Amino acid sequence: MCLGSIPNNFSGYAYILKYASGKTCCQMLTIDCRDVEGIMHELAVHVAEHMGAVPAIKIREFVVSPFDDDDTLDSALATDVIRKYLESIGESRNFAILADGDRVNIHSINGKTITQNTSSKLDMFSCPHCGFVTSYEVEYNAHKRIHYL
Ligand SMILES: [Zn+2]
Repeated sequence: MCLGSIPNNFSGYAYILKYASGKTCCQMLTIDCRDVEGIMHELAVHVAEHMGAVPAIKIREFVVSPFDDDDTLDSALATDVIRKYLESIGESRNFAILADGDRVNIHSINGKTITQNTSSKLDMFSCPHCGFVTSYEVEYNAHKRIHYL
């Protein structure tokens, strides 16, 4: 799927070949969640899990980067994973997912947005080992244990 990152000794020609071939690999991907803020954390964990990547939560967007610095992420795959997630919660008809370089934008089609649940904003638990984020302490404690197996 991915051709891998650009080698240190790459020639300009090889670079052009790779990017002209329609590949959509990036060092990291930024997922713009301004229209779906309410599910951003769940979506970040889901995308990271399915892509074998590390999520980092920002304001109204999140970033996923590969575990291995030499790896790349495919924005087409990210788009697919996000679409399936929206389908699973019955929201796929309301949003368009557009990949643009290393950004993936989730846009409301009809003006409907999924807003942040203010109560969950207060208590976010983030795993120091992998960036897993949850608003439930029980879930967080259960998750942390996987690193100590
Ligand atoms: Zn973790």
